Amino acid sequence: LNRRLAEFGTTIFAEMSALALSTGSINLGQGFPDTDGPEEIREAAVRALRDGRGNQYPPGPGVPELRTAITAHQQRRYGLTFDPDTEVLVTAGATEAIAAALLALLEPGDEVIALEPYYDSYAACIAMAGGTRVPVTLRPHEDTHDGVVHRRFRLDLDELRDAVTDNTRLLLINTPHNPTGTVLTREELTAIAELAVERDLLVVTDEVYEHLVFDEAEHIPLATLPGMRGRTVTIGSAGKSFSFTGWKVGWVTAAPELVAAVRSAKQFLTYVASGPFQYAVAEALALPDTYFEAFGADMRAKRDLLGAGLAEAGFKVFRPAGTYFITTDIRPLGESDGFAFCRALPERAGVVAIPNAVFYDHREAGAPFVRFAFCKQTSVLEEAVKRLKTLA
Ligand code: PMP
Ligand code: GLN
Repeated sequence: LNRRLAEFGTTIFAEMSALALSTGSINLGQGFPDTDGPEEIREAAVRALRDGRGNQYPPGPGVPELRTAITAHQQRRYGLTFDPDTEVLVTAGATEAIAAALLALLEPGDEVIALEPYYDSYAACIAMAGGTRVPVTLRPHEDTHDGVVHRRFRLDLDELRDAVTDNTRLLLINTPHNPTGTVLTREELTAIAELAVERDLLVVTDEVYEHLVFDEAEHIPLATLPGMRGRTVTIGSAGKSFSFTGWKVGWVTAAPELVAAVRSAKQFLTYVASGPFQYAVAEALALPDTYFEAFGADMRAKRDLLGAGLAEAGFKVFRPAGTYFITTDIRPLGESDGFAFCRALPERAGVVAIPNAVFYDHREAGAPFVRFAFCKQTSVLEEAVKRLKTLA
């Protein structure tokens, strides 16, 4: 293994899912739903397969039906207009989109500013591209309104500005944010946009949880902000939006020269993404708004169930405004090392979770935080809560 990759080892998701299997634990670690997405979309994939659509190499940029569906979705949801021929690229999941974007846009030595904690593939892909990651840490913040405690991980805009140097090439943003559940506010996004314009930076924005925002939170695509349409690479995922994580269909929307750059890298990674599933995802993106509302409402109820249970079990809970993850602080349980806690949790309680420290360069800043996924059936979450309550 070369020096660029040596520090990364095995991804925490593989490690923790294997631990869940070998110990028979409830897996609230890796973020995948335990219920598949809509039956009609599964049927659409079967139909495509049977009708021979996509069984041979589809076109490099993605099948036209899917590219058109992606642009229609961006138009309908956000008022963003993209040309399906030049401004869309279908990828093998958002994971490939992230890799291809970084491989295409970075020169060796370029600095990439990423919000810490960051999704684990960011660090590995920056390294593979020969870039240098510069983490800006989201800080836990707590305030009380009308007797109710609100907790969230917050972006310090001064820290962000101070992180930019003459070597900064791009900002790698993620909202709604995995693992903290933070949804960046208009104020935070505006500051990011102003900085990008002022310092002439590109922005890669991972918006795979765009449809998982709760309560008063709003998902604001960075590309909608002034000055951003031409310098932003936006990433989406059918795995996350339609609960088919095994299909590995993702996409990029951006200006033509940026899409062309990302395509240059993508063609030598996978050449194309899986054919029949692209046709099914095209149908999924055209589902009525009621699908997205029901999906969000279901996850919100699950968030509330698991969040209340974790609080009763003694965790300090950062109620997420988005995603299907809850970050907790384990210090009220008398614990301080999330790694040790997560390695022992299957034995102690029959539950698997993810130590947030793996998503940090400043490991000590992430040490007491542990992430639980709530994209699971209600009965599974109830059983997990019952088990976690034995910890106290
Ligand atoms: N970005 C983030 C923030 C994610 O959480 C994930 C999935 N866990 C991905 C990208 C990858 O998405 P996909 O499965 O479409 O490759
Ligand atoms: N995105 C999912 C998570 O954060 C898992 C993806 C993966 O296994 N690489 O849990």
